[in-house]
Amino acid sequence: MSTAETAKALLGRMSTAGRRPHAVLIDGGSETERAELAAYVAKLYVCDGRGEQPCCACDQCRKADEGVHPDIVPVTKPDDRKSFAKADVKRVVEEATLTPNEAAVKVFVLNELQLMSEECQNVLLKILEEPPAYTAFVLTAQTANAVIPTVLSRVVRLRLGSEEETAFSDKAIAVVQAIAAALQKNYEYDRVAAVAPLDGNKPLTAEVLLALTYLFRDAAALKLGGSAACPSLANESRALAALPLETLLARQDFVGGLLRSLDNNPNYTLLSAVLSAGL
Ligand SMILES: [Zn+2]
Repeated sequence: MSTAETAKALLGRMSTAGRRPHAVLIDGGSETERAELAAYVAKLYVCDGRGEQPCCACDQCRKADEGVHPDIVPVTKPDDRKSFAKADVKRVVEEATLTPNEAAVKVFVLNELQLMSEECQNVLLKILEEPPAYTAFVLTAQTANAVIPTVLSRVVRLRLGSEEETAFSDKAIAVVQAIAAALQKNYEYDRVAAVAPLDGNKPLTAEVLLALTYLFRDAAALKLGGSAACPSLANESRALAALPLETLLARQDFVGGLLRSLDNNPNYTLLSAVLSAGL
């Protein structure tokens, strides 16, 4: 099975499980492969056919294939600029609150995020944090490193090709492994000890929180029959896949929330206490 097929199968299973994500990031592979998978995912969102989706037979699918669906909104860097225009990204945030025209969901396809400044990604983050129920986002990027961590924490990642995972430091991996071990034993003392290295170390805290969102996401993906995207935490995600799906997704949301609050949290040293209590 090609990586694109694996990604499609994973998304299909998530849909069946009633957990179709609000935002998907497609990274790796070639620009053409990313665009093809993005078009497929957009069609999956608008399809109203019965049975397996996308059915490729309903009106919504047909319009998606012809590139004329009013609820599939492609957003790209303007030809005469080096990066996305802030006004375009702001327009996405505004239009995302409007209800769809024909389909049940309005899909914004934001192409090639390596061309979007951090400032613009932060504008986009606002709507990714609390997307209306009838809105979905499909993002593509050359590599996940081009996407800011707070945005990464809001998306389900579909990775094409064999490009390496965002590299975490050995220290961050060690902390995450200790946390994963403590979660399996479920002793509070172990959890407190595992997060202790984070006290007074904000960069390490940010790295560990991002790695934890990957860990829970990978565990959920394995549970749904997909594959883990973070090889350095493969053993841990396999072990945590024994937990219920709802628990894994709730923990992913929880650590993602902590990661987003890190920047405007002057008392971030208290965060390790919140983290150990909430896991
Ligand atoms: Zn259809």
